[in-house]
Amino acid sequence: MKLDRRGFFKIVGIGASAAVAGAPKTSHAWQSKAPPDPYGCLVDLTRCVGCRKCELACNEVNHLPEPAVRFDDLRVFDKARRPDEKAYTIVNRYHTGKRDDIDRMTPTFVKVQCMHCQDPACVSACIVGALTKKENGAVHYDVNKCIGCRYCMVACPFEIPAYEYLDPWTPKVQKCTFCYERISKAGGKPGCAATCPTEAITFGKRSTLLKMAHRRISENPAKYIDHVYGETEVGGTSWMYVSDVAFETVGFPAVPDKPMPKLSETVQHTFYTYLWSPAVLYAVLAGIMWRQSKKEKEA
Ligand code: SF4
Ligand code: SF4
Ligand code: SF4
Repeated sequence: MKLDRRGFFKIVGIGASAAVAGAPKTSHAWQSKAPPDPYGCLVDLTRCVGCRKCELACNEVNHLPEPAVRFDDLRVFDKARRPDEKAYTIVNRYHTGKRDDIDRMTPTFVKVQCMHCQDPACVSACIVGALTKKENGAVHYDVNKCIGCRYCMVACPFEIPAYEYLDPWTPKVQKCTFCYERISKAGGKPGCAATCPTEAITFGKRSTLLKMAHRRISENPAKYIDHVYGETEVGGTSWMYVSDVAFETVGFPAVPDKPMPKLSETVQHTFYTYLWSPAVLYAVLAGIMWRQSKKEKEA
């Protein structure tokens, strides 16, 4: 049996219920820790031509290994991909039945990377603080704090974090960095946004991008669907999208508007309240994850 997100929260939930039984009541109102005015990126799917230059730029600025399929090889689109430890962003192609002015089938290309959620589930799930949401919007990873438990991978509603298995003694979770160092400098842009030749990716303040997204929709309602993906999904994300096709037809998951940490942090507080120290909680959950990955390897 594979431990998926639902399974993880079920196990944690059962533990929490057990801990709660018979214990005194306390209240822990969940509070958003979203930064007030972070940076973001707006991706306009109507402008993306699938050139993969964003993938190439990401590969270069992050010093990633050679790609499995060359950046100019269009056969890469034959199969949908996910970002992984060697490619923090990827572009997928979808055929939705859309046709252009002269009735040719037109594909939709979708750039995928970490969404840099405003209240990230991965940050909430990380009990050693290896992942943090920064004021500039980036969800930042500190390899020196990571203990390789992979709860962030289970918690992420977009299935983004990947695990580098090269060295068992130095575990490393890999995902889009939002080019944290670059955007921390005045005028700096993420590598992908700086490179995109069609301006399909716009970098700026999230509040400004939201206004831009709604303006594009209201000025051209026949072209765009009336939905900015990432405005409210999981409480809002730094990466947002506008599109001329329904998001569910091009690989975007239907996620709740509520921030995911509301669940996980409530569970953690419940454990702590009933004297499960973080160390004990970690040991229990690490045991569950270890047994699970052993079973997966043996299967
Ligand atoms: S560089 Fe821009 S146009 Fe090219 S695939 Fe990436 S987002 Fe699309
Ligand atoms: S998309 Fe996943 S990995 Fe990225 S910030 Fe959100 S929860 Fe974390
Ligand atoms: S923001 Fe940086 S790390 Fe993220 S996809 Fe773009 S180039 Fe890659």
